[in-house]
Amino acid sequence: MTYTTPVNEILFALNHVAGLEAARNEGLYGDLGDDLVAAIVEEAGKFANEVVAPLNRVGDTHGTAFKNGEVTMPPGWKEVYRDWAAAGWNSLSASTDWGGQGLPYALNAALIEVWSGASIAFGLGPLLTMSAIELIEAHASPELKATYLPKLVAGEWMGTMHLTESQAGSDVGALRTKAVRADNGTYRLTGEKIFITFGEHDLTENIIHVVLARLPEAPPGTNGLSVFLVPKYLVNADGSLGARNDVRAQSVEHKLGIHASPTCTMVFGDQGGAVGYLVGEENHGIACMFTMMNRARLAIGLEGVAIAETATQHALAYACERRQGFLVGQHSHEPVPIVAHPDVKRMLLTMRALTNASRAICYSTAVAIDRARKAADAAARWAADQRASLLTPVAKAFSTDIGTEVASLGIQVHGGMGVIEETGVAQFYRDVRVTQIYEGTNGIQAIDLISRKLPMAGGTVMSIFIEELRGIVAKVQAANDPAFGATGQRLTEAIDSLERTSGWLLSKLKDEPEAALAGATPFLRLFALAAGGTLLAEEGHAALRLGDAAGANVATRIAIARFFAEVLAVEAPALERAIVEGAGSVNAAGAVLAA
Ligand SMILES: Cc1cc2nc3c(=O)[nH]c(=O)nc-3n(C[C@H](O)[C@H](O)[C@H](O)COP(=O)(O)OP(=O)(O)OC[C@H]3O[C@@H](n4cnc5c(N)ncnc54)[C@H](O)[C@@H]3O)c2cc1C
Repeated sequence: MTYTTPVNEILFALNHVAGLEAARNEGLYGDLGDDLVAAIVEEAGKFANEVVAPLNRVGDTHGTAFKNGEVTMPPGWKEVYRDWAAAGWNSLSASTDWGGQGLPYALNAALIEVWSGASIAFGLGPLLTMSAIELIEAHASPELKATYLPKLVAGEWMGTMHLTESQAGSDVGALRTKAVRADNGTYRLTGEKIFITFGEHDLTENIIHVVLARLPEAPPGTNGLSVFLVPKYLVNADGSLGARNDVRAQSVEHKLGIHASPTCTMVFGDQGGAVGYLVGEENHGIACMFTMMNRARLAIGLEGVAIAETATQHALAYACERRQGFLVGQHSHEPVPIVAHPDVKRMLLTMRALTNASRAICYSTAVAIDRARKAADAAARWAADQRASLLTPVAKAFSTDIGTEVASLGIQVHGGMGVIEETGVAQFYRDVRVTQIYEGTNGIQAIDLISRKLPMAGGTVMSIFIEELRGIVAKVQAANDPAFGATGQRLTEAIDSLERTSGWLLSKLKDEPEAALAGATPFLRLFALAAGGTLLAEEGHAALRLGDAAGANVATRIAIARFFAEVLAVEAPALERAIVEGAGSVNAAGAVLAA
């Protein structure tokens, strides 16, 4: 068993939790029908299960070979990437202006989960390319768009993201890569970037690097950064490839996981300067880069969902086969499958519930992105944009946190076999761990949530979201179905904690920011437990409404929602206490540690 795309789960979460169906019914996506959405997920699922998933182990064991500045991908990867791009999977939600299919971003987000579920290393290159396309489309000149977008959209070229330098990780403003103006309107870049994903490879004939650099007279910090496109090969006026540009891979890292994703040190300007083309305005690069980073952050969150899904699938299958021990009070000498033991059930349910909750959060963020682009009136577009901004750090950090937790639980369910590489589940754990670090560490996401997102529009973006959560809970309670157990009460308590803690943080941000920052990570978790639990309750409620005849698996969905509310969301009040009462001890004890 490798990976089976959970087509029904994906469609249910997209349509009935994230609101794709409602958006379609409002006409946001023209005449897109639900049968086409289902057919696309189904087809992608087949490709992922049958073609991409078999690459996963090959990629892990072979890794990428580096010689004379060139990277060779593992056996089979080049051919599968070529077929994948030729089938149109790279261009799904890209604009039709550049050869894309103009389908919902939310649908593409669901497929990012699918590709990553089959192989996180395979999905990583394309998700960065897709994010680069967004940046170019939003900020580049018409000439740059015409030169680069058709090839990038078709997947014939791939894109990369260059922020990190050895002294500039979380602190992007510390970067030093230099750009100087050349006399023909282009720029020459010199410097060194580290940890660049797919910085060099042989999947495509050209690689378009999106690079943050600093002009000589630029102000310090993030306000002095500019974005440049730096192609591996310069592009001639007729679109053909020209001279090799002065940017090269110097080395490839040996990593814990994602061995088939080449993580490169890149050197610019060894031979006088790499030719770069400015995107947007000089010194306004960080705002442009955020277009790319926000898309990539959601996509990395989807990697977390994907690994959680595949780890859950494997653990459940193993738990149904592996026999150990007896049930309490059982007199037979026949050992039972371990799935029958309450502690194993708890682990499996935790895995399933966390996976589904993080999927619901990620897909809701994706539908908000579609609404921000396509809603009929400006106020609705603004509100959706704010919602997407609020949810993006939660989607990234919670989903990757739970990705690692679920992969770890998956190993636990396998017992000793879990740490044996041949079993395959150890790779999930190794592969997913970096998702909590790259694209902005989860600590940085939490700081973004409390210091930039909570205060948006004077806190009203958050309060509107909380009211919506309360509305969902009220609807679930009004259904009065005993199968929900204490779901309504427990979620209300979690949302109350979220609301009180948000208010506390907003006030502390002004006069005691250290106290607020000490609670950032537990607050993000509290946010996700309240929101994820409520979205699962929405899913259970939607299942109840649609009924088993519509394939809604009513009992299962309600049971998972109830488990989340009664077993996982109950941590919310404790997190509130840790944030509000624990801030002092974090800073006091921290001072002792560093002394
Ligand atoms: C496999 C891999 C692929 C990558 N791909 C890319 C890529 O394609 N392009 C790219 O540009 N970069 C890439 N990166 C770099 C990645 O984005 C950085 O590693 C990440 O942003 C963290 O930076 P750092 O490693 O320097 O850690 P640091 O910034 O040194 O952080 C160390 C710790 O301190 C915490 N910390 C740092 N500053 C603060 C603060 N102000 N407040 C609170 N806590 C703080 C962090 O949360 C973290 O826990 C990749 C990294 C890896 C490992």
